[in-house]
Amino acid sequence: MTQKNNRIQNHPILPVERGNPLKFSFNDEIFTGYENETIAAALIANGIQIFQFHHKDHSPQGIYCANGQCSQCMVMVDGFPRKACTEILQKGMHIQALDGLYSLPQKVGTNQLHPIIHKKAKVMIVGAGPAGLSAAIELGSHGIETLLVDDKNQAGGKLVLQTHRFFGSKELVYAGTRGIDIAKILSEQVHDHENIELWLNSPVVGVFSDHKVGVLKDNQQYALIDPEILIIATGAREKSLPFPGNTLPGIIGAGAFQTLLNRDLVLPGKNFFVVGGGNVGLIAAYHALQAGIHITGLAEILPQCGGYRVHLDKIKRLGVPIHTSHTILRADGSDHVQSVTIARVDDLFNPILDSAKTIPCDGVLIAAGLTPVDEFFQQAQQFGFNTYAAGDAQEIAEASAAIVSGQITAKRVLSQIDNSENDTQNIQNLENIRKVLSSRPGNIQVTERNKKREGVLPIFHCVQEIPCNPCSGLCVHHLISIPSDDIMAIPDFIDPEGKCIGCAQCVIGCPGLAVTLVDYRTDALFPFVTIPYELPIDKNDVLGHSYPVTDRDGRFIGMAEVVNLTQTTKMNHTSLIKLIASAEIAEQIAGIQVKSETPPSIQDFPELPIENETIICRCERVSAKDIRALICDGIHDLNLIKAISRAGMGACGGKTCEPLILQIMKEEGIPPQEVVPFSKRPLTIEIPVHTFLEPEQNDDETHE
Ligand code: SF4
Ligand code: SF4
Repeated sequence: MTQKNNRIQNHPILPVERGNPLKFSFNDEIFTGYENETIAAALIANGIQIFQFHHKDHSPQGIYCANGQCSQCMVMVDGFPRKACTEILQKGMHIQALDGLYSLPQKVGTNQLHPIIHKKAKVMIVGAGPAGLSAAIELGSHGIETLLVDDKNQAGGKLVLQTHRFFGSKELVYAGTRGIDIAKILSEQVHDHENIELWLNSPVVGVFSDHKVGVLKDNQQYALIDPEILIIATGAREKSLPFPGNTLPGIIGAGAFQTLLNRDLVLPGKNFFVVGGGNVGLIAAYHALQAGIHITGLAEILPQCGGYRVHLDKIKRLGVPIHTSHTILRADGSDHVQSVTIARVDDLFNPILDSAKTIPCDGVLIAAGLTPVDEFFQQAQQFGFNTYAAGDAQEIAEASAAIVSGQITAKRVLSQIDNSENDTQNIQNLENIRKVLSSRPGNIQVTERNKKREGVLPIFHCVQEIPCNPCSGLCVHHLISIPSDDIMAIPDFIDPEGKCIGCAQCVIGCPGLAVTLVDYRTDALFPFVTIPYELPIDKNDVLGHSYPVTDRDGRFIGMAEVVNLTQTTKMNHTSLIKLIASAEIAEQIAGIQVKSETPPSIQDFPELPIENETIICRCERVSAKDIRALICDGIHDLNLIKAISRAGMGACGGKTCEPLILQIMKEEGIPPQEVVPFSKRPLTIEIPVHTFLEPEQNDDETHE
């Protein structure tokens, strides 16, 4: 095969650093990877999309979760099955695509056995994302012995994948700071507290009826923790979207996409289509553009995208076609996705098949919403643990709300430990803040255009009520105001005395890239316009050239010449592009299209979608048709459906297909009270059997 280099070479926000190169083979061909990267990253970097062929129908399987939760990326490594997304590449590895079911070698060698750890904990927190970290910090600052465990090799949860600046309140939740930097700040605070013990690379594998929690410490030693209080801050997982072709290699969730892009610095494709216009889809699309991926379009089934308008405007200004009131009908391709077909929907969200159009792409990013990872919490409650849920495991919201949720949970725990209600008012205040930070975007208010055309002034392209206020604290002359008790308010610029000096701090610091600066002082007819920019750009390439400029909605409004580009370390990876533009359009300019790419052509798609083709259980490849038939036969117990069809029996433990089976139940008119969900059983991930063996039973157990 022709070897490809799908590695990000230059990123506007992230440093591009790799370990030493090393050679490995895949299907007997030699490739180059790098130390410390996963097998999946190395394969995708080399243009390999197919990791295995399903044993049932030989369909090609590519990476799906990139998180160790399913087994679609299983490959054979030196004769053993391994998940490519979690296994670190080693020099000289012989990797083969898995073809059907694997058989283990006769001799497996000797495994080092470790004693089982038995440990008591005052408070145990599962999940070191924004909620878990903030809960630990709050508890740590009050001297509470806390054990914080996470399955990843670094703390921060999804924050470590977020290259954009966060919204919210600057005073309370680091608004204006990039997610990757918030993760570092919170992690450092955790390390400052000696009474917080952090176990990374340590997945929880089950909570048990004897009030113990099973953890695979350092991914190798089994530990049974006996916590007095258990906080579950396990975050959220993405919802799967059922449509024909949904398991083709190249169709991945937003979390997996961001992992490959922003952690592994590899490109899972060159032309992606995005499904879902909530914040997750809009942000992931922007991350793709930052990494150099062309976005062929975004479909949102609702009449408007549900994410923040500032996120939407950013990608519209970069030329991404937005298809609201559209749904995905199918994805097609032989061994990986080559096109998606979308169609408009009517008022009842039924697709209007006459409107179907096919869009070529080599990847589809699914951002169909999130669902809480709350199985541990539910089980812990069922078993009578003294337990709390925090962050997305409690309620899906922005990461800023999760930080506050962690603080609230910790305060509740502290009140319980002290047996006092002293903090009730404080908790109530934090609850109010959490609610504001969780708010859905509000009304749109467009302010009247300035008519004076003199002096210098910022233009706010931020027209929707969202919980955000960094701009209000950035102006040295205090010319921008957002009431401290109403951070949903749209910023107000008040400058009757003409004090604005054009310092552009408000332009640099706005996380929505929604502030520009128009300076009429040199030439009122052709003022300077300063706009923020976060894609790769080289001053020498753009200086003196004219580019198309767009208004807030991404509409082309004219051409403008680049007269300067400022990039300093203080600006934290946000560039300032200075343009000269006609006064007629200067205040409307919100974006510039430095890169022009011709979008792939759109053709009509002749075939009608066949929904029953859709694969519901991707691990065992069980179709909607098979599951629907069982439901119509009167089987409303998911455990029975599993026993008959194998749906839910795969490596992901039904995490992906359960919501989809419930959706089919609903479509078939089965009342929810008649539906029996999957029984949740440990282990939640696969772990080697030898982990439970001890060197000498009972004698070598470690008690702490
Ligand atoms: S450009 Fe500077 S002085 Fe003018 S409003 Fe923005 S921050 Fe204030
Ligand atoms: S203008 Fe102010 S409120 Fe609007 S996104 Fe920017 S920082 Fe937030």
